[in-house]
Amino acid sequence: MGPFAYRSWVEISLRQIAENFHAVRSVVGPGVEVMPVVKADAYRHGAVEVSRKLTAEGARWLAVSNVEEGAILRDRGITARILVMADFLPAERDGLFDYNLTPVIHSLADIHEWDRLSAARGVTGDYHLKVDSGMGRLGTLASAPEILNAIASARHTRVEGLMTHLASSANYASSQTEDQLAVFNRICSELARAGVNPPFLHLSSSTPVAYGRRNAWQRMVRPGHVIYGYVSPVAKGTAPPRLLEVRPALTWKAAVVAVKDLPAGAQVGYGAMFRAPQPMRIAVLAAGYADGIPHRLSNKGRVIAKGQFAPVIGAVSMDLTTIDVTQCPPLQVGDAVTLLGTEGAFSIDAQQIARTAGTISYSVLCGIHARVKRIYLEAA
Ligand SMILES: *Cc1c(COP(=O)(O)O)cnc(C)c1O
Repeated sequence: MGPFAYRSWVEISLRQIAENFHAVRSVVGPGVEVMPVVKADAYRHGAVEVSRKLTAEGARWLAVSNVEEGAILRDRGITARILVMADFLPAERDGLFDYNLTPVIHSLADIHEWDRLSAARGVTGDYHLKVDSGMGRLGTLASAPEILNAIASARHTRVEGLMTHLASSANYASSQTEDQLAVFNRICSELARAGVNPPFLHLSSSTPVAYGRRNAWQRMVRPGHVIYGYVSPVAKGTAPPRLLEVRPALTWKAAVVAVKDLPAGAQVGYGAMFRAPQPMRIAVLAAGYADGIPHRLSNKGRVIAKGQFAPVIGAVSMDLTTIDVTQCPPLQVGDAVTLLGTEGAFSIDAQQIARTAGTISYSVLCGIHARVKRIYLEAA
C-alpha cells in the first residue's frame, strides 16, 4: 500500500531540541544533572527520536510517566537511566525490572513492596522517593522518622533520589513554592542527619529553571516544556529575569483539500456557525479535531496560508477545518498551510493557540494526534 500523501504532519528539528537541552545545561551549570522529560511521546515530538538525540548530546537520565513508555525506549536501544515518574501499578512492577527502569515510589507501603520484589529477584532495587510537600497529588506525606524506618527496613533497595513537585512555580505572588521548598528541605535534612544522603535531590520542572529559582535546583532538574522550546509565562507577581532562551522545535502543517468561492450569505460547516458576509474564497484543510486541532478554535483560530494569517471559519470538524483565504495569495489543492510554526514574518506558537482555545500549551502539543505524520528535519 501507499505511498499516501501527507494530509497533516509535523516537522521536528532535533537540532533545536538539542540546542534547548544545552541551553538548560548551561543555565544550571555542570553540577546539576539535567534529566529531560520525554513522557507522552516527548510531548508528541517522538520519544524515541528525541531520546536518541538527547542521549547522543550527553543526557544520562530521561524521565517518562509510565513503564510502557520506558519499555518502548529500551526496545529501541536507549541505554540511559530512565526514571518512571507516575506509575507503580501492580501490573507494571515486573516491567520495571525487565526493562531496567527506575521507579518513583510514592508511599512507604510501596517501599516495602519494592523491597520484596527486589529480594525475590536477588537484586538491589534503586528508587526515587517522592515527597508530597504540598501539591496534594503524588508523594508520601509521612514524617521523616517514618520515612527513615521504611528506608532502613528495605534492605534490598537503595534510595537514589528524593524528589517533590511544585504546584505553583510560575506564580510569584504566592508563597506556595517557598512553603513547599521548606517542607522538602526539612525532610531532606532530617534524613541527612540520620545518614541518608541520596545522590539526587530534585524538585524543578521547566519554570524554576527558566526563571532561576536556584534554591529548587539541588543536584538534578526535570525539564520538559523548555526542551521543546516553551517557557511558561509568569502567572502572577513579578519573576526575576528569565535566564533561559529556547525556541520551539515543532512546526505543524496541513494540506489544502479544496479551494472554492462562496457567494455572500453562504453558510459554512456544522451548525452554520459562520455565514459569509460577502463573497469569499475558502480553503478546506485536511486536518480537524481528530488530528488535534482544538475544537475551541472554531470561528476563532487562525493559520498561516501563503505567508498570511487566514482565519478559521465555522466549526472545526473531525477531519477538516475551513479557513478564509480571501486575502491570501492564490492557494491550490495540495498546498501546505501552517497550523503552528513560522512562515516569514508570521508565526503561531502553541501558547497562542492555547490562549485562543482556552487551554494550555502543553495540552495543544500533547493533543497532536498519532495520525499526524512526523518528519525529522535532521538525522537523529
Ligand atoms: C511533566 C513533569 C515534569 C516536566 O514538567 P515541565 O513543566 O514540562 O518542565 C517534571 N516533573 C514531573 C513530576 C512531571 O510530571
